[in-house]
Amino acid sequence: MDNCIFCKIAAKQIPSTIVYEDEDVLAFKDINPAAPVHLLLIPKQHLSTLSDCTANQTALLGKMLALVPRLAEEFGCAVSHDADGTPSGGYKTVINSGPDGGQEVYHLHLHLVGGPHPWRRVH
Ligand code: ADP
Repeated sequence: MDNCIFCKIAAKQIPSTIVYEDEDVLAFKDINPAAPVHLLLIPKQHLSTLSDCTANQTALLGKMLALVPRLAEEFGCAVSHDADGTPSGGYKTVINSGPDGGQEVYHLHLHLVGGPHPWRRVH
């Protein structure tokens, strides 16, 4: 879509630090990270918000979500458990939708925010 910054990133028309790519999905580093790890996962197809998704996007959304633990592992913020089962590490996945949801870029994106605190709030 014309004038969509994330479409331009997906089309490699503007630079970004890409960490994952397949035919449907791109993941890249947030330019203004709120935490030690802050990645954005987007569909290559332009969808403005989560509210534009229907059952037609079930596989796409599932693919994006399933990518989260894989990238969390790669970037060192996966949830792990010590011998007695106490969890450590971890991350937050956030999809801001619409103005009341704090969305500023109108191309659907999933934030993966993790690593040691402190973090800034991702709305
Ligand atoms: P918010 O800024 O309130 O988190 P969004 O959920 O719409 O709103 O998130 C947009 C995100 O896109 C922000 O975290 C911002 O830092 C990031 N961003 C904007 N432009 C770029 C860019 N060119 N490259 C990487 N990240 C970007």
